[in-house]
Amino acid sequence: MQIRLYNTMTRKLEEFKPITPNHVGYYNCGPTVYWDQHLGNMRAFLNADILKRMLLANGYTVNHVMNYTDVGHLTSDEDTGEDKMEKGAARENMSVWEVAAKYIKNCERDMASLNILPPTHAVRATDHIKEQIELLQKLEKMGFTYEIPGDGIYYDTSKFPDYGALGGQNLSELRGGARIENNGKRNITDFALWKFSPKDAKRQMEWDSPWGVGFPGWHLECSAMSMKYLGDHFDIHSGGQEHIKVHHTNEIAQSEPIVGKPWVHYWVHWEWLLLKGGKMAKSSGSFWTVQGLIDKGYDPMAYRYLVSLGHYRQPISFSMESLDAAAAGYKNIVRKVADLMNDKSGDIDQDLYQQWHDKILAPVSDNLKTAETLVVIQDLLKDKIVNNATKFALFGFIDELLGLQFIDRATKLHELESETAPENIQELAQKRLEAKKSRDFATADALRNEIDSLGWTVMDAVDGFKLIKKQ
Ligand code: AMP
Ligand code: ZN
Repeated sequence: MQIRLYNTMTRKLEEFKPITPNHVGYYNCGPTVYWDQHLGNMRAFLNADILKRMLLANGYTVNHVMNYTDVGHLTSDEDTGEDKMEKGAARENMSVWEVAAKYIKNCERDMASLNILPPTHAVRATDHIKEQIELLQKLEKMGFTYEIPGDGIYYDTSKFPDYGALGGQNLSELRGGARIENNGKRNITDFALWKFSPKDAKRQMEWDSPWGVGFPGWHLECSAMSMKYLGDHFDIHSGGQEHIKVHHTNEIAQSEPIVGKPWVHYWVHWEWLLLKGGKMAKSSGSFWTVQGLIDKGYDPMAYRYLVSLGHYRQPISFSMESLDAAAAGYKNIVRKVADLMNDKSGDIDQDLYQQWHDKILAPVSDNLKTAETLVVIQDLLKDKIVNNATKFALFGFIDELLGLQFIDRATKLHELESETAPENIQELAQKRLEAKKSRDFATADALRNEIDSLGWTVMDAVDGFKLIKKQ
């Protein structure tokens, strides 16, 4: 099936053509692990997962690399401010290494709760210092670097004529708007490749290098690690839209002089999750996490469904109301899948299966239009021609494509519904039925509440009552 992706570099919707037939090399910029990842971060990783699942459903193998930034990301995103990791360590009274281990573990847990497929390579910046130093040495040899004494080694962006192409800006425009800076940089856009440790304080994370003890600049890790795991040229690189003008622009500047142009064939950027009109951000201190949702009784799939209702190039406003609406929509589909499970007699109709399979896959393959696929799914559920066995089999494919775990949740619902209530609950339900028959509604209501508080829901049925265990 034809795949189209919006390429930030060309600002066009393009047909996807892989470098190697049937295979995709894919790098998605991962999290800085100084704190829990919030739902905004998770939206980015969910989008990456949808992209990857779409490629898999189209028969590609995918070598997917995601980095964990555990050093070098300063609070300003430029090259000033505190190191986010050291800041996290001070906040938690732990070593930087412990903070990184803790938040990588939490991130893996939250990704698993959202049914995000693990990357082929989840790689840490601190495990690739050697590769980063080697890359810097190459850039140095080619004359792209200079030293700011007492500060670090910087990349001279004026030496790279294509600088800013990803963000649609050229160097003179970028310089034109620049403030006069007094920190020794030759150009406002120059960035650190290596930062020296401060003379008066020992950093927890620092390494020897040909230039002195210090640590790599934030952008270097993604160039070095993607080249290591995906080769000099690869198909797709993605990340949050805020990476276009600085982080990815700098990655390109570090890589293309070495490997040639184009380093990456398709650049894909995710829009944000908003909270009260602004970007949900760790720095604001007010954010939601996946674990927070679970603790409040939400199924993480409700959030995955909410994200699938949007498009990755449009912001999504998060609120409890939008989450509740998504949760209700999600449960509604689960209910219908559970009904299919109750009666999936008949043989799978291969022709109809293939037709619907393609109808489901087409919108996602067309620049990840998951919301359109969700509409097709509603049409499938309503369809009168397709039999239940075929519909159910298609949900197997839908789960692989969208990762929404409909069958898993429907199975659980089914189990809950077929569980026999213990005797004391049955007795209460019997008493309630009798109270209702004698029109003693106050007692009937009180008994319903009692049953409810014991974890069961009583429903009226033709032959008396039905008891369903609450989720
Ligand atoms: P960070 O840990 O801040 O480096 O962010 C990791 C990833 O999450 C990056 O790709 C960011 O673009 C993304 N991200 C951060 N905040 C949001 C948000 N509110 N909505 C969507 N993506 C976000
Ligand atoms: Zn990156």
